[in-house]
Amino acid sequence: MSSKTLDIFLNENIADLKERGLYNEIDPVEGPNGPKITINGKTLINLSSNNYLGLATDERLKQVAKAAIDSHGVGAGAVRTINGTLDLHLKLEEKIAQFKGTQAAISFQSGFNCNMAAISAVMDKNDAILSDALNHASIIDGCRLSKAKIIRFEHSDMNDLRKKAKEAVESGLYKKIMVITDGVFSMDGDIAKLPEIVDIAEEFDLLTYVDDAHGSGVLGKGAGTVKHFGLQDKVDFQMGTLSKAIGVIGGYVAGKQNLIDWLKVRSRPFLFSTAVSPADAAASTKAIEILMESTELNEKLWENGNYLKAGLKELGFNIGNSETPITPCIVGEEKAAQEFSKRLIDAGVYAKSIVFPTVPRGTGRVRNMPSAAHTKEMLDEALAIYEKVGKAMNLI
Ligand code: PMP
Repeated sequence: MSSKTLDIFLNENIADLKERGLYNEIDPVEGPNGPKITINGKTLINLSSNNYLGLATDERLKQVAKAAIDSHGVGAGAVRTINGTLDLHLKLEEKIAQFKGTQAAISFQSGFNCNMAAISAVMDKNDAILSDALNHASIIDGCRLSKAKIIRFEHSDMNDLRKKAKEAVESGLYKKIMVITDGVFSMDGDIAKLPEIVDIAEEFDLLTYVDDAHGSGVLGKGAGTVKHFGLQDKVDFQMGTLSKAIGVIGGYVAGKQNLIDWLKVRSRPFLFSTAVSPADAAASTKAIEILMESTELNEKLWENGNYLKAGLKELGFNIGNSETPITPCIVGEEKAAQEFSKRLIDAGVYAKSIVFPTVPRGTGRVRNMPSAAHTKEMLDEALAIYEKVGKAMNLI
């Protein structure tokens, strides 16, 4: 492709996205990503971060990260299988396994590449994957990479899952069949129907994979969606991220020892991409220790989440089917969602719009992610701004 052709391709497509209200502008945050953030010199109440427990700016994590830099330096130096496996990585993996109640765990550089890695290390072209229609992009990409047949079932529709599992088994076409789901769906805040999924998996001998990026630190008193339902022995892959409630960076799979052993020899990002830094590994370990020692942050998160949710509902916003602190205000049209977010930001609340392709067309929304670090005063101020902007736009 000549550079002129590339220019035409890029310019036309970017203009088209802007025209349709699908082009997201990126705002750099000047300073820590806490309950308040500064953008373009303006300090705003932050309702857009995944830092559910406030740990991204926690002093205890900062201290261990600094100590790890002093003791180990700033980089891991190599991929895990050469000499990039530091004692800090092993300590982290041991902690994750304890946290999740499994025999072992493996960590990755991000939740995204963890899904790419783990799914494709186990599933191949002779297999099939039953995937919830609203699963995260990294699950979808991991499934595609595996070359397994992808069979989507309607979002949280257990009749559809059962029907498609039965058809897949009876077809006799596949060696292994996996069912894969988010634990908590990040755009709506609803929880996967894990007890039913696990029953169906038992009936049809399916492998089970739960991406708990948004459930860890949130459900099960912090231990996640699988623990919330008491299903630790029934889920093969407990996948999670260290970038959200844990506050740092990285991803992991917790499961049986033989699964983790296999992932250590077959996951391509583990074999071919440098491990997370000493500071990241040490800070993540500390965060998990904090969560295992006390449920205080988790309780605060729920208190704040319930408060904001009740306030937005009372104002008359459509908050969908949220069962967790994640609270969307669903507007519908993409441009309206973007305008709503822009006005909220102008008025002092950083709540970002989420539009297609992240959510289905026509379900544009502003999504709120309250955290344990917010104060009641901040939430009250945010609700007052929501009321003002919502009324001005005739949304309530
Ligand atoms: N899975 C889900 C459900 C997610 O929401 C995300 C983050 N958006 C990821 C995986 C990827 O995690 P990370 O940001 O750590 O790469």
